[in-house]
Amino acid sequence: MDKTSNTQVKTRLGEVRAAILNAERAAGRPAGTVNLIAVSKTFPATDIEPALHAGQHHFGENRVQEALGKWPDLKAGNQGVKLHLIGPLQTNKARDAVRLFDGIHTVDRMKLARVLAGEIERQQRQIELFVQINTGAEPQKSGVLPKEADAFLRDIAPLGLNIVGLMCIPPMDQDPSTHFALLKTLADRNGLSRLSMGMSHDFETAIALGATDIRVGSAIFGSRDKP
Ligand SMILES: *Cc1c(COP(=O)(O)O)cnc(C)c1O
Repeated sequence: MDKTSNTQVKTRLGEVRAAILNAERAAGRPAGTVNLIAVSKTFPATDIEPALHAGQHHFGENRVQEALGKWPDLKAGNQGVKLHLIGPLQTNKARDAVRLFDGIHTVDRMKLARVLAGEIERQQRQIELFVQINTGAEPQKSGVLPKEADAFLRDIAPLGLNIVGLMCIPPMDQDPSTHFALLKTLADRNGLSRLSMGMSHDFETAIALGATDIRVGSAIFGSRDKP
């Protein structure tokens, strides 16, 4: 890692922060109320460090195994860092996930909810959980179907999980607005205050539609499709 890319991460992070402030202002929302999760998947610790030095505290990873390889050390050296799992979680990785992550955005089935409840209890961890909604009802995508969201939330309620909100990844080929609006409707209806939505290309739209937690990767760390 050279100095150039170090500076680049810092510069891009500054640009994203400025864009968030603008979007908050445009939406008539108080400044600093949207939580930026810097998605560092595929990037090594050397790319993450400049973001940490620039005061970034929340990071996202989509694979437990990859996160285990770089985050225990980074967390130990940087107090107050919060790590979010934004990719699918297999129940056999739940123990590791509960140990390492502070937020899990991909709760999407009863079995996983049960296993997480057991692990969180056993490890006495404070973790913020989001239920992932498959707003586009895409067969290849995980998440609870919108029409099953109310029932799912009702079914998992007895587990006593700390469900703070809903998360979605809109279909790539569609206007994300309708998906963000749908997520907000479902969250409001179920008394949930947090919305994990918005990525590099659409976080401003997401903020306009009520996002509280945005997940931004390439706009900060650069393109992931390196050879
Ligand atoms: C990779 C990823 C992101 C970040 O995507 P960018 O387009 O790089 O900002 C956000 N959310 C999820 C679930 C992801 O897997």
